[in-house]
Amino acid sequence: MGDTSSRRYLRKTLFSKRQFLIGAGSAAIGLGIGSGADAQRESRLWDLIIIGGGTAGLPAAIFASRRGKKVLIVEASAQLGGTLLLAMGQMSAAGTKVQKMRGIEDDPQEHFDDIIRISKNTVDRDLVRLAVWNAAETYDWLWDNGFDMVLDHPVAGRAHEPYSKLRYYWGNDWGLSIVKVLEQEIQTEVDKGNVTIQFRTEAKELLQETDGTVTGVVVQEENGTVQRHNGRHVLLACGGYASNPAMFRELCGYTHYARMSYPYSQGAGHKMGVAAGGYLRGRENYLSNFGGIMVDENVPSVVDVRPNTYPERRLPWEIYVNVEGRRFIREDIPSVDAREHALLYQPELRYWIIFDDAIRKQAPALLDTWSQQEILDAFDSHPMFYKASTLGELATEAGINAEVLQRTVQQYNLGVLTGHDFFGRQHKPLPIIKQPFYAIRTQGYSSSSTVGLAVDKELRVIHEDGSPVPNLYAAGELLGSGQTMGRAACGGMMITPALTFGRLLGQSMLQFDT
Ligand SMILES: Cc1cc2nc3c(=O)[nH]c(=O)nc-3n(C[C@H](O)[C@H](O)[C@H](O)COP(=O)(O)OP(=O)(O)OC[C@H]3O[C@@H](n4cnc5c(N)ncnc54)[C@H](O)[C@@H]3O)c2cc1C
Repeated sequence: MGDTSSRRYLRKTLFSKRQFLIGAGSAAIGLGIGSGADAQRESRLWDLIIIGGGTAGLPAAIFASRRGKKVLIVEASAQLGGTLLLAMGQMSAAGTKVQKMRGIEDDPQEHFDDIIRISKNTVDRDLVRLAVWNAAETYDWLWDNGFDMVLDHPVAGRAHEPYSKLRYYWGNDWGLSIVKVLEQEIQTEVDKGNVTIQFRTEAKELLQETDGTVTGVVVQEENGTVQRHNGRHVLLACGGYASNPAMFRELCGYTHYARMSYPYSQGAGHKMGVAAGGYLRGRENYLSNFGGIMVDENVPSVVDVRPNTYPERRLPWEIYVNVEGRRFIREDIPSVDAREHALLYQPELRYWIIFDDAIRKQAPALLDTWSQQEILDAFDSHPMFYKASTLGELATEAGINAEVLQRTVQQYNLGVLTGHDFFGRQHKPLPIIKQPFYAIRTQGYSSSSTVGLAVDKELRVIHEDGSPVPNLYAAGELLGSGQTMGRAACGGMMITPALTFGRLLGQSMLQFDT
C-alpha cells in the first residue's frame, strides 16, 4: 500500500531501520530475553503463546499482560515490529479523539458503509465490523501514548479510493511511528515480568491433543535447537506470505512481481493453521495496485519509482497501453479502484506509458522524485525506459504489438483533434506525433497477502464446517487482505485490524478462566 516512490521509500527505510536496529539491540538487553535454553529451563504453561512480535502480536501481548497473564512471544527475527518496520503505517478509524478535537463528525457505521462501498461488498462483514467499531479505541490508545501523527491529519485518502470523511492517519516516521509506541508499551510489560520474548526463533508446528485442541508450539532457534512450549492459548500473528513467491502464486494465482514485503512474511502461519485443521479463503479478492517501474526484468524485482498516475494530483498527458498495444482505461478516470481493476485484466499486470517529445517537454513531471535530466538519462540506461524515432521501432524495442500501437496512437490523436476520445477521456492536451517517441514499462504488483486463514467473529481459527480449532486464534495479515479490504484497497484496513484484533484478543476476547 502507499504511493510514495520506492526510491524515497528505500532511502527512508534503510535510514530508519538502521536507527531501529540500534534501538532494538539495546532493547533486547533490557527485555531480558533468554536464550532458548533459558526458556526451556522455565518449562512453564504459558497463558498465551504469540507467534510473531509484529503489528498484531505486540498489542495482544501488551493487553494480555495488563490482565496479569504470562505471555511468550516467539519471534523469528532479531527485532520487534514486523511489517511495520517498512510499511507506510496508514490507519483508518472513526470517532477518534483527534477527529472530535478537529470537529469532524464521524462514526463506525459510516466507516463500515464506506468500506462496503469501496470494496463493493466483497469483505468479511463480521471482521470489518469488529475492526471498525473498535478502531477508534485502538487509535486513541496509540495517540494517548505519544503516537507521532502527521500534523494536518486525519485526511480522506491518498493513493487509495478516498473515504467520505477525514479518518485516515499515519505517523511522521510512517510505520516506525507505531513501532515506537508498541516498543515502549511492551517494555513496560516485560519489566513487570509478564512477557518473555524469544528472538531469532521460528515456530515450526503446533502441538495438538488427539481431539485437535492446540496445546503449544514447537520452535526452532537460529542455532538449530528445537523446543516445545506449552500454552493455554496460541495466537498465530506471524504475518502473510508476501515474501514467498511460490506460495504467493499458488494461493492467489498471480505472479509475485515486487520484492517489498517483510522478509519473514513466508506464510508460516498459513501452513501451521491449515495443518491444525483450519482452511484458507479469499483467493477471489486478489487486486494489484496501478503499478511501479521495476529496476530490472527479474521476477520478483524491486520497484524503482512509481509514476504519478493519480489524475487528482497530475492530469495525464500520456496514454497507457497493454502488451497488445491497446489502451485499456480512460487514463484520467478519477477512481483509482477503476484503474486497478482495469489493470487486473491486462496480461502480466503490465502496461506501457506512451508519449512523444512535445509531451515530455511540456507536461508536468510524470515521476515526482526524478529530475527532467534523470528521466532523460533513463531512456539511455534504464531497462524499463524506451525511446525511438518511430512508433513502430518503439513498440518493437518495448515488446509491444507494433501495428496495434500505431493504430491506437492514431485513434487517440483523432480524439484529441475532434475532442471525442473513444474512452471518454477529458484531458488530452496534445496528440502523440512528435518524435522521438517514448515508452515506460509499468508493472502492477501487490505487497500484501490476499488469501488468509478463516476465523470466526471471536478470531478463533475455524474448520470448514465453522467449528473452532480449540485454543487457536489468528490475527493480522494472516487473515488475508481479502477479508478486511475485499477486492479493493480500503485505506488502513490492514494495519488497523491487525492492531485492533491483537488488542481485543489480549484485552478481553481470550478467556483464561474456563
Ligand atoms: C511496504 C508495505 C506498506 C504497507 N503499508 C500499509 C499501510 O499503510 N496501511 C495498512 O493498513 N497496511 C499496510 N501494509 C500492510 C500491513 O503493514 C501488514 O498487513 C501488517 O503490518 C501485518 O501485520 P501482522 O501482525 O500480520 O504481521 P507482521 O507485522 O509482519 O508481524 C509478523 C511477525 O511474525 C514474525 N514471524 C514470521 N514467521 C514466524 C515464525 N514462523 N515464527 C516466529 N515468528 C515469525 C515476523 O518476523 C514478524 O515480526 C503495508 C505492507 C507493506 C509490505
